[in-house]
Amino acid sequence: MTSVPPSPRIRVRREPHRGAYDRATIDAVLDATPMCHLAFVQDGQPYAVATLHARVGDTVYVHGSAASRALRTLGGNGDGGLPGCITVSLLDGLVLARSVFEHSVNYRSVMLLGTLIALDSEADKRTALEAFTEAVLPGRWAEARQPNRQELAATTVLALPIEEASAKVRTGGPGDGHGPDAELPIWAGVVPLRRSWGQPEPDPLLPPDVLVPPSVRRLLSAQSPDSRGPR
Ligand SMILES: Cc1cc2nc3c(=O)[nH]c(=O)nc-3n(C[C@H](O)[C@H](O)[C@H](O)COP(=O)(O)OP(=O)(O)OC[C@H]3O[C@@H](n4cnc5c(N)ncnc54)[C@H](O)[C@@H]3O)c2cc1C
Repeated sequence: MTSVPPSPRIRVRREPHRGAYDRATIDAVLDATPMCHLAFVQDGQPYAVATLHARVGDTVYVHGSAASRALRTLGGNGDGGLPGCITVSLLDGLVLARSVFEHSVNYRSVMLLGTLIALDSEADKRTALEAFTEAVLPGRWAEARQPNRQELAATTVLALPIEEASAKVRTGGPGDGHGPDAELPIWAGVVPLRRSWGQPEPDPLLPPDVLVPPSVRRLLSAQSPDSRGPR
């Protein structure tokens, strides 16, 4: 696994000790949730669109309707595309300090910069869509009906190589335990965030003999009561 040296524009300046550029840290954050924000500038106006992503090796994919403004703008309609930015953020806990000023949160986040490239071939799109489906729920690709040619044609997939990437991670307690505020009789500490999946709710239109699939059963049985939610 390669390490990505930070370019000047990707180097974390504010609280630089929280920055990381190694692929293990970056990939772990990217793979921890399928949700990201995709940002671009169109006609001078910045937009940050919440969407799904999937990482396959050294590439992050985003996808959507071929009519999507964000995807059409970033993909460039075959003329090279525009610079984009993908961020992934995970909230891990509340950091409650004695002073309001020192309140914070624990988090893991990643920022990727680069030009997104639209996938042309049906085979490449299919591979990326499999990665999306598996990023949402491992095992689901093989359980569900797979996309037909019409659906593939209606879907745009953009690829961003992981070349300029930074992670930023905050862990630990509040920062005012050693200063003048340390004597204040105010509770301080961390409230960790734990998330878990609930009971599956079958589509009311589902015939009663269609059972909860193995992918969902694995998801539920894998989570301990203390596990960190949607992966
Ligand atoms: C859940 C969450 C909550 C946060 N809450 C706050 C808050 O309330 N106030 C606050 O000031 N900051 C908060 N941050 C940190 C925030 O994301 C920025 O890092 C910080 O505001 C510094 O911004 P800057 O533009 O000065 O960064 P700079 O350090 O100047 O940014 C330079 C480069 O560092 C990298 N970088 C910066 N931030 C991040 C990041 N979060 N993840 C990955 N790479 C990064 C980017 O590549 C960027 O181009 C929060 C982060 C998360 C994930």
